[in-house]
Amino acid sequence: MSKSGTVGGGKYDVVVIGGGPAGYVGAIRAAQNGLRVACIDAWENRDGQPAFGGTCLNAGCIPSKVLLESSELFHRAGSEFALHGIRVNPPELDLTAMQARKARIVSQFGGGIQELFKANGVTGLFGRGHLLPGNKVRYTPRGGKPELLEAEHVVLATGSTPIELPFARFDGAAIVDSWGGLDLTAVPGRLGVIGGGVIGLELGSVWSRLGAQVTVLEAMEHFLCMVDGQIAKAAQLQLKKQGLDIRLGAKVTSAEQGPSGVALTYEDQRGRHTLEVDRLIVAVGRRPNTEGLLDPLAGVKLSERGFIEVDGECRASAPNVWAVGDVVRGPMLAHKGSEEGVMVADLIAGRYGHVNYAVIPSVIYTAPEIAWVGQTEEQLKEAHLDYKVGTFNFAASGRARAMEQAAGLVKVLASTADDRILGVHIVGPMASELIGEAVVAMEFQATAEDLQRTIHAHPSLAEALHEAALSVDRRALHAINR
Ligand code: NAD
Repeated sequence: MSKSGTVGGGKYDVVVIGGGPAGYVGAIRAAQNGLRVACIDAWENRDGQPAFGGTCLNAGCIPSKVLLESSELFHRAGSEFALHGIRVNPPELDLTAMQARKARIVSQFGGGIQELFKANGVTGLFGRGHLLPGNKVRYTPRGGKPELLEAEHVVLATGSTPIELPFARFDGAAIVDSWGGLDLTAVPGRLGVIGGGVIGLELGSVWSRLGAQVTVLEAMEHFLCMVDGQIAKAAQLQLKKQGLDIRLGAKVTSAEQGPSGVALTYEDQRGRHTLEVDRLIVAVGRRPNTEGLLDPLAGVKLSERGFIEVDGECRASAPNVWAVGDVVRGPMLAHKGSEEGVMVADLIAGRYGHVNYAVIPSVIYTAPEIAWVGQTEEQLKEAHLDYKVGTFNFAASGRARAMEQAAGLVKVLASTADDRILGVHIVGPMASELIGEAVVAMEFQATAEDLQRTIHAHPSLAEALHEAALSVDRRALHAINR
């Protein structure tokens, strides 16, 4: 493809609107493909400073993982060190230092994206992008006058925003969204969380480990309905043991602020209940960001739920306009968005591009972690597919026992017809890392036997996956096959 203009002259091969993990990664790949690329982002951090990286880096994945790590260390120091024969005085929390470490890591990575842009020749622009007809983009710099950018291709990657409940508006103090829930400056005595999804459980875990009494109110009757039932049940048991009070089938209907906290009303099968908390985190899902993004004549269609409509290769309904990440269908996961960004950048450059939507890993960073890829047992049953199941408990893993993290299991589902792996589900230590092997295996269409014949280091957590694959054919070596 020919280069269509000069950087700084307002003409680009590709203008990416949105600099989160979908947009900035797509911009880097497009530049690696020899295209002239600009990436526009309107994100402002709490200090008013602009930043690339979107929700994932500034208010989501990264800061939450930092706090999950710190809070887990705090909790383990207090509850587990003695088991290892290490005596410590009860550990003392310095939340200011913990939050400062988080801010430092976020800021370093933000600078890292700008370095990567520089190294790859991507023009990073702080401000707002608005798609006009004919692949023109109105770019309004922070505090500046609008400029017109021309592009052969435009990639929309504007991400998503927390959904607000009409009766529990975010006020940045007593009632906060997930970003606010990461930035608390004191541990609340009583913390309420509306929504027992990924964010609710991760943030609930952080503050519970740091000493809050956490109650999670979840509208669905089943715990984590997207997770394999057996794994969800095992996870629920562990979280309950840790003191997380998870109330299922609990639909919150009001939240009234008073002098002593936020009074919540919720309904379940047994009737109406009230609960008072000091702080409330609302984590009931996210909605796509398209407000102020599209000129009505740009020809980009939205779905009923407000997502930008795209085909299987992320083409939107207007020529040479693409959309990737949370703003389009599919799971709202940073890595899914990044791969879509890469695919689109390669397709624009005339190269091969592809996302295998059937093999996207998911992780919930509780302790133990929950991770999965492929289909759940419930989905296989519903599809009337014949399958074999193999499981292995971490209780029989030497490495997990040494780590004092032997709760949980690995479950492998394989096709009865051809032994191909259909799903792998893990609740246990480092599940987020272990799932990578399952993803590679499924990407290469491996069978359970392929995993059985693969040598796994001993002692390692990965042996649990090996044993679960063996157990598919009742050949596990360190468990009784039933
Ligand atoms: P979610 O969809 O995972 O969970 C929201 C939950 O809120 C649902 O279970 C829903 O039943 C419940 N709910 C809705 N209204 C309610 C009400 N009135 N009362 C009680 N419960 C109610 O959404 P989330 O946790 O907000 O996360 C948003 C998105 O971000 C998700 O797509 C998630 O996958 C993604 N995310 C991923 C990670 C990760 O990969 N580790 C981390 C954070 C967020």
